[in-house]
Amino acid sequence: MPRVPAHLRTSAGWLFDMAVCCVGLTLFAVTLAGVHPDGLSFSLPVLLGVPLIVVVARFPMVVDNRDGGIEVGFDSSILMFLLCTLDPEVALFIWSLGVLVTQLTTSKRWTSKAFNIGVGITAGAVAEGVLLLVRGDGTGTPRELVAVMLAAVAYFATDYVTSAVSVAIDSGTGVRRHLWQRGTLLAVACFVPFDTLGYLAAVVYRSEPAWTLILLAVPLVTLLIATRAVTRGRENARRLTVLFAAAVRAQTLPDREAVLEALIDDSRELLHLKRVALRSTPPGRLEIGAEVNDGDATHWLVARAMERARSTIAADEEALKALAAVASDAFARLALTEETVHLARHDPLTDLPNRGILLDRLTHAQTLARRHGSRVALLFIDLDGFKPVNDRYGHAAGDAVLVGLASRLQSCVREADTVARLGGDEFAVLFEDADAVVVELVWERILSALEQGVAVTGQLLRLSASAGIAWGGADDNAESLLRKADLAMYEAKARGKGAVVVYEDSIGRSRLDRLIMADDLRRAVANREIEVAYQPIVATGTGRIVGAEALARWRHNGSPVSPELFIGIAEDSGLIVELGEVILAKVAADAAALRALAGSSVGIAVNISARQLRSPGFVDSVAATVKAMGGSELTLEITERQGIDLDTVVLERMREISSLGVRFAIDDFGVGFSSISYLADLPVHVIKVDASLSQFIDADERSKALLRSVTLIGQSLGLEVVVEGIERQTQLDVLREHTDAQYVQGYLLYRPMPLPGLLAAVRDDRAAAGLAPVS
Ligand code: C2E
Ligand code: CA
Ligand code: CA
Repeated sequence: MPRVPAHLRTSAGWLFDMAVCCVGLTLFAVTLAGVHPDGLSFSLPVLLGVPLIVVVARFPMVVDNRDGGIEVGFDSSILMFLLCTLDPEVALFIWSLGVLVTQLTTSKRWTSKAFNIGVGITAGAVAEGVLLLVRGDGTGTPRELVAVMLAAVAYFATDYVTSAVSVAIDSGTGVRRHLWQRGTLLAVACFVPFDTLGYLAAVVYRSEPAWTLILLAVPLVTLLIATRAVTRGRENARRLTVLFAAAVRAQTLPDREAVLEALIDDSRELLHLKRVALRSTPPGRLEIGAEVNDGDATHWLVARAMERARSTIAADEEALKALAAVASDAFARLALTEETVHLARHDPLTDLPNRGILLDRLTHAQTLARRHGSRVALLFIDLDGFKPVNDRYGHAAGDAVLVGLASRLQSCVREADTVARLGGDEFAVLFEDADAVVVELVWERILSALEQGVAVTGQLLRLSASAGIAWGGADDNAESLLRKADLAMYEAKARGKGAVVVYEDSIGRSRLDRLIMADDLRRAVANREIEVAYQPIVATGTGRIVGAEALARWRHNGSPVSPELFIGIAEDSGLIVELGEVILAKVAADAAALRALAGSSVGIAVNISARQLRSPGFVDSVAATVKAMGGSELTLEITERQGIDLDTVVLERMREISSLGVRFAIDDFGVGFSSISYLADLPVHVIKVDASLSQFIDADERSKALLRSVTLIGQSLGLEVVVEGIERQTQLDVLREHTDAQYVQGYLLYRPMPLPGLLAAVRDDRAAAGLAPVS
């Protein structure tokens, strides 16, 4: 018989259900009153009727549809048998008893049981009425068969319509929708022939010995088992489809809420149960459940345990577990995605946001600023002299410095500001809604935090940084603002340690000029258009020329470019290596002319960049120059200004070059990054004291004292000392009287000059000393 799916039974239709139940029970009472005790004498139908009804009722056929399906019970075939073999009252009494026992032994809710009892008994009574009415007195006639079939239809119709009304009241929808479902006709088509089987049994029972009924048991049992297998099979196929769809969908769910929602929806669809809950406690008595893992949290997917035609409790629980596994997988995937996204958006070393996030937030901040009329500022920070830290203490120590620095930076900014790492030793701070006072305050805090130092392998390392600031304007996008802050930082670097520069358009223009110049310089280097000027170096006491420093010269569009500028560009673009090669080659070529001034040994000093020491071909070029210079000495000057990177490659190169008889000079001594402690480890022979140290020695006592102690240090290390920047006689006098510096260099003595000038100067110098010139 069709039954209302248990999960649709809610309190709204309660009254209707109870009314149906009352009708059924009243009919039962009337039947009971009408049964003559003699009619209940021992007979096979009476004995077997009730258990048979209960057993057959357990094997309904399910015709599926969206609302949960129609269950078609075959137990009414027993009713037909009873009606055709017994006194109608007795038959109905046994039937009613069967219905009662069937319902009372199921695990349905009691309202469902009550309704089903009412419907079962009422439908039985209606069927009886139709049978008696149509059959009349004749038994074993075709008319009786027609009567049985009509009774079966009447039974089905009663049950079906009553159930549909109940569902309609419950769900507040129209009855028609529930009457005309997919599968209704199929259900009737299965139902009627099955009930006629009950009639066949009656015919056999009337004419043949009772035991022949057993023959009917075979097709009956086969049919019931087959029905159940088909029902289960179809249900399993349906569940697989739902599960598969759920698994596929789980791959694309965007967040946890979506996964949980899908889990509940899919469970309802899968089990055809409305009441499926997600909670933190495991299933209790009369419940089934499955565990869902969501990282640290555990949820339980729980439903009521119900034995139903379409499935067993065990099958339902398995289905829940499968869905729970799908959801757990989805959670794991989400967690993995979150982690990946975090990794992709954060710097792995410091866990600070990276450039990507910075640009996003910058864009967002710009939009807000435009709306609120506030201003966005970007502070671009670059550590000063971080590379030597890396080289001297190793990369692990360098990393530790950066990590320490990251947390320092974060403690210096306001909560709403973003600190990002852009790579290497570059950081940025985004100020959303800021004014100049705030930015300056934060920058000062950062500087003093850096000065407090970071501990590296037990040593406190004091750091400094340069920074550029760019204020967001109306036309700026995130990229352009970042570039401006970057350019301002470059400008700050050029101004010295700890400087901060606010971006102005002129900075951008000078940067552009540099880019254009770099292109032209590349061409000039390739065409060997770089010239060499020589500035003689003289002995302090006698004024005699002992050597010359080679200085690069470049004319751009007809006018000379300051070496500070084009050497800087060459350093930045890596062009310095090629440029150095050109200088060495020219010096080698000029050496022949210098050597021709026989009897005079004029050493040549060539400036090199630390980068050249790392370039593979460098040693060969040096060797070629040494060869060209014959007996004269070659000195390579390395500036201390940016700090000298003393890794093993550089040291090895220096030793190799040293073994060629080449000397090394530390240039710009006294202004650089490093202390003098490293001088002992290096193959260094000369220090060239920076012009800034000699600038005021003729005017200022402290300058004089400083220069004196610097030269003393040099000498105590066994190094020759050259003092640069001597422009006035008074400076030279101080030098002569108060220091032991052996050599000087400066405009007072000689300016840098082309090779012919140097040759003339050397000739004059030798002549003055009374030595005969060769030509
Ligand atoms: P530097 O090595 O310290 O060279 C000395 C600089 O001081 C030269 O500047 C020279 O012209 C200048 N000078 C000499 N006497 C005086 C003086 O009495 N007063 C003042 N105020 N300056 C004096 P220059 O030629 O402009 O070179 C600047 C820097 O460019 C050099 O400083 C050196 O670091 C770099 N440089 C020049 N040529 C080369 C090169 O071929 N390779 C490399 N790597 N760097 C070079
Ligand atoms: Ca120099
Ligand atoms: Ca110098």
